[in-house]
Amino acid sequence: MLREGGEAIGLTTVYRALQAMAEAGQVDVLRTDDGEAVYRRCSTGHHHHLVCRSCGRTVEVEGPAVERWADRVARDHGFVEVSHTLEVFGTCADCAGGLPN
Ligand SMILES: [Zn+2]
Ligand SMILES: [Zn+2]
Ligand SMILES: [Zn+2]
Repeated sequence: MLREGGEAIGLTTVYRALQAMAEAGQVDVLRTDDGEAVYRRCSTGHHHHLVCRSCGRTVEVEGPAVERWADRVARDHGFVEVSHTLEVFGTCADCAGGLPN
């Protein structure tokens, strides 16, 4: 998007812009197992993610069973106004392509 604005930009600029967008709530920041920051633009509404450890590709998924479970355990313990985040990490089909099953 920044490049389309006609600017020649370096990675530092990109990260600075992403950080500003993250602070404004326009993108989500996610930290990988390696401690690397991954930024993504999320659709609105509650959902979860499958994240590829290798290329960072993210798939948005819904988890009705997770929602029911979270509601139930919260209620069982008398918690109200609960929220949760859930990220499932793995290797995507493309990255796993060369790997034996
Ligand atoms: Zn998302
Ligand atoms: Zn991948
Ligand atoms: Zn959920």
